[in-house]
Amino acid sequence: MKLDEKQISEIIKNVLASAAAENSVAEDARSYKGVFDSMAEALEAVNKAYKQYRSYTVEQREQMIAKIRELTLNEAEEMAKLGVSETGMGRVADKIIKHQLVANKTPGTEDLSPSVMTGDNGLTLIEMAPFGVIGSITPSTNPSETVICNSIGMIAGGNAVVFNPHPNACKTANYAVDLVNRAILEAGGPENLVVSVYKPTMDSSKEMMQSPIVRMLVATGGPGVVRALLSSGKKAIGAGAGNPPVIVDETADIKKAARDIVAGASFDNNLPCIAEKECFAVDSIASELIAGMQEAGAYLIKGEQIDKLVKIALVEKDGKYDINKKWVGKDAGKFLKELGIDSDARLIICETENLHPFVQVEMMMPILAIVRVPDVDDAIEKAVAAEHGNRHSAHIHSKNVDTLTKFARAVETTIFVKNAPSYAGIGAGGEGYTTFTIAGPTGEGLTAAHSFTRQRRCVMVDGLHIV
Ligand code: NAD
Repeated sequence: MKLDEKQISEIIKNVLASAAAENSVAEDARSYKGVFDSMAEALEAVNKAYKQYRSYTVEQREQMIAKIRELTLNEAEEMAKLGVSETGMGRVADKIIKHQLVANKTPGTEDLSPSVMTGDNGLTLIEMAPFGVIGSITPSTNPSETVICNSIGMIAGGNAVVFNPHPNACKTANYAVDLVNRAILEAGGPENLVVSVYKPTMDSSKEMMQSPIVRMLVATGGPGVVRALLSSGKKAIGAGAGNPPVIVDETADIKKAARDIVAGASFDNNLPCIAEKECFAVDSIASELIAGMQEAGAYLIKGEQIDKLVKIALVEKDGKYDINKKWVGKDAGKFLKELGIDSDARLIICETENLHPFVQVEMMMPILAIVRVPDVDDAIEKAVAAEHGNRHSAHIHSKNVDTLTKFARAVETTIFVKNAPSYAGIGAGGEGYTTFTIAGPTGEGLTAAHSFTRQRRCVMVDGLHIV
């Protein structure tokens, strides 16, 4: 076969383009500190780093963490942009805030408090020791935030970390792995204290979970990963899915409740696992609440528009609904455009029945269904059912102390926010520290350095008891 000049030039163009693409991958691989081609290499490197790290002081741990905080603040915008462009989910401005929260409010070594017991027989000391190398699986919804938050807590606890990030967000997660390593090196720490793989897969995840080097596992994600982790036979922390309801009763400051719910439910396009995902409003104030939400920037859709949105946002199989992954974390304006509406609203709201899939499915989209209920007891019953026993997060706007207590007792969630946007529950505008790994299923709650340590008891008999 004889090729003409045009065909030859087309072939050359294609060869050059694919060489350039390969080079850019290779450059990324070189420039990302702590990121390896294979899990075996990553495990070997982190094991070596952990052995070195054993001789570092707590003060040195803090110096490394201070540097991680500094670089996170400096590069928050870059990571936020990378996260949105790689995953196609969320909002840059909100992701910047999430990185700032992680940098400023993730606890360091101060979270590790030893305890003592003294008495006639002497003194017993309980100290918080590292597990060793921790294997961590991270989600696509907060990829760099989770890597940095986990790294700070795990390093504070004296551990090293190997990450197997979500494949659809691995560039962003690995940028964060690189940042953490740059910070550690600048602060005089060891190489590869935090590692990852360039192309995470289910196989690399399995290899990590089964490696004898890894002494503890932490997973942040949906039910699948938490199940896989809990059957690993290792000490595991599972931070699983939620479907947080928010209740508004007739005693609430309705205008404020409306503003708070729009702010929380639209934050990062509803990606956070703690965000308000369905609303139960007492009938006597429901219309006022909806009007308040519209004033606060939400767009109300009705009737056929709702049915059309169901077909866009969800997929149906055998009468069961699941999320349409293509639409997770997209801007409200994009959904509205599909409905023929030109609007830059942050949140779409609609009234539905209680069993509507917008209420029952954890969607992670800026769409909030509002269910009218006759009274707050009915709201509590329906909200508890919609949370599906995840015991993750629930929120309420009410000034009635009995109602606040009743809902909290009934729903049994790890996070329960009263009269504020949901993100107050992770330290944004509420008291308390920040985490992006909220461990409901395994009970650690809002994880921090102490969660990544094991207790060791040191007993001195007949001595050091000085009174
Ligand atoms: P996902 O479950 O699809 O993925 C999470 C991670 O688990 C990824 O790294 C993925 O590759 C891995 N994974 C999934 N199934 C696995 C299996 N069987 N074995 C091994 N690894 C597996 O979740 P996502 O879409 O990235 O994130 C959203 C979900 O995570 C939501 O359900 C949200 O509520 C939850 N989430 C929870 C928390 C929390 O702190 N509790 C925080 C963020 C997200």
